Amino acid sequence: MKDHEWLPLIPIRGAQGAWLEDHDGRRYLDAVSSWWTNLFGHRHPHIVARLKAQLEVLDHVIFAGFTHEPAVQLAEKLCALAPPGLTRVFYADIGSAAVEVALKMSHHYWRNTGQPQKTRFIALANGYHGETLGALAVGGTGLYRDAYTPLLMQPIFVPSPDCCPLAPDGRGPGESWEAYSRRRFADLERALERHAHETAAVIVEPLVQCAGGMRMYHPVYLKLLRAACDRHGVHLIVDEIATGFGRTGKMFACEWVSGSRSPSAARREPERPDGDDRAGGAQPALGRAGDGNEKPFSPDFMCVSKGLTGGTLPLAAVLTREAIYQAFYDDYAAYKAFLHSHSYTGNPLACAAALATLELFAQEDWLARNRETARRMWDAMAPLSGHPHVAEVRQQGMILAVELAQHPAARQPYPAQERRGLRVYQYGLERGVLLRPLGNVVYLMPPYVLTPEEVDLMCRTASEGIERATAD
Ligand SMILES: *Cc1c(COP(=O)(O)O)cnc(C)c1O
Repeated sequence: MKDHEWLPLIPIRGAQGAWLEDHDGRRYLDAVSSWWTNLFGHRHPHIVARLKAQLEVLDHVIFAGFTHEPAVQLAEKLCALAPPGLTRVFYADIGSAAVEVALKMSHHYWRNTGQPQKTRFIALANGYHGETLGALAVGGTGLYRDAYTPLLMQPIFVPSPDCCPLAPDGRGPGESWEAYSRRRFADLERALERHAHETAAVIVEPLVQCAGGMRMYHPVYLKLLRAACDRHGVHLIVDEIATGFGRTGKMFACEWVSGSRSPSAARREPERPDGDDRAGGAQPALGRAGDGNEKPFSPDFMCVSKGLTGGTLPLAAVLTREAIYQAFYDDYAAYKAFLHSHSYTGNPLACAAALATLELFAQEDWLARNRETARRMWDAMAPLSGHPHVAEVRQQGMILAVELAQHPAARQPYPAQERRGLRVYQYGLERGVLLRPLGNVVYLMPPYVLTPEEVDLMCRTASEGIERATAD
């Protein structure tokens, strides 16, 4: 907190498109999408118009015993977009609350169906699911969790499939992302063998552990996980709060597993020695929609928030299956109902902003546009992979990360107290670009509306900042 004595808070007066403006008239390109929430720029005219119109008719109303049009329409649209089988929607107001809902609903389902002993969760090391106590408990990132350990339930943590060579027991030279993620899955399989009887659900961030440093893994892990959860009678909760709504190159990261709607060049594995198709990345071994013999991947619970309202208002939703809904559907006296109510659940303004956001997706092929933007980002940043203090440049769609390290070949990171990332942050601010590294990981996660010139400015600034931050 004392940092702010020499690094003052920046008071922002307004924002337009991808730009923020402070009270001195200085402008900053929002390369982190205001903490990964913004998709189409600030104050997008369509979202603003929708919000104003909603404000003219209904601001907020109790969401128990009452309902309203924006909430109903949004639920219908989310189910239509989501992976197959997710036909029921429960609203919450922030991402952490959505995670709480999924955890509670999973356990409560088992309780209602005669297996009340299923009280535990399996989670990944280095994961992040929010900061309320339940969500924090299933997060595997010490930075956020350690101070509160005595307050938290204890999940079963398994090593992350994170393919970064700097990860603990990380991917070896010559080992493909797929081979490494498969190898890591053995840990999760063992945890299920040992603990399935007491486990309600496995919770994961799909493909990218965002707060854990934009660490990435291969979709084969999710495919194996789905099959194992089915075999062991355990729910699968996929936390798409950061990855949803086009961020990874598909509408939801889940779609990378199978049944992909369109081929994409979004996944990059710069060091893959096996010479197979780099651009297509994950797909060939996994089967595609229409090959007839593979069910599209789908979780039991999917949590969404962040980009859901295009970055305008807090809103979250948990999507789940009909069978789970039915386990709660009973007479009052059976006491099976799911009790979880936030005052602002299903806020009509937030739902209207979300509807406007989904309308923007329908108006233009943003995933195709993002493929171009992602490629431009890659072309600008990939040369850094030869830098003596860069361990890895990795990308999944509109998330590109550069992992700094003192001695990449020796897998030796920079000591955290050197705060190399902070230097990049400061350099970015001087140059009018908001970069906000996670420790030694400099990442780009911009709104989808950047012009090619803005992409170049963002990438140039990040590269120069990395040069300076690693010069001594
Ligand atoms: C941000 C985030 C959350 C928490 O969402 P909040 O709205 O900040 O509570 C949960 N899971 C993931 C993967 C996130 O990135």
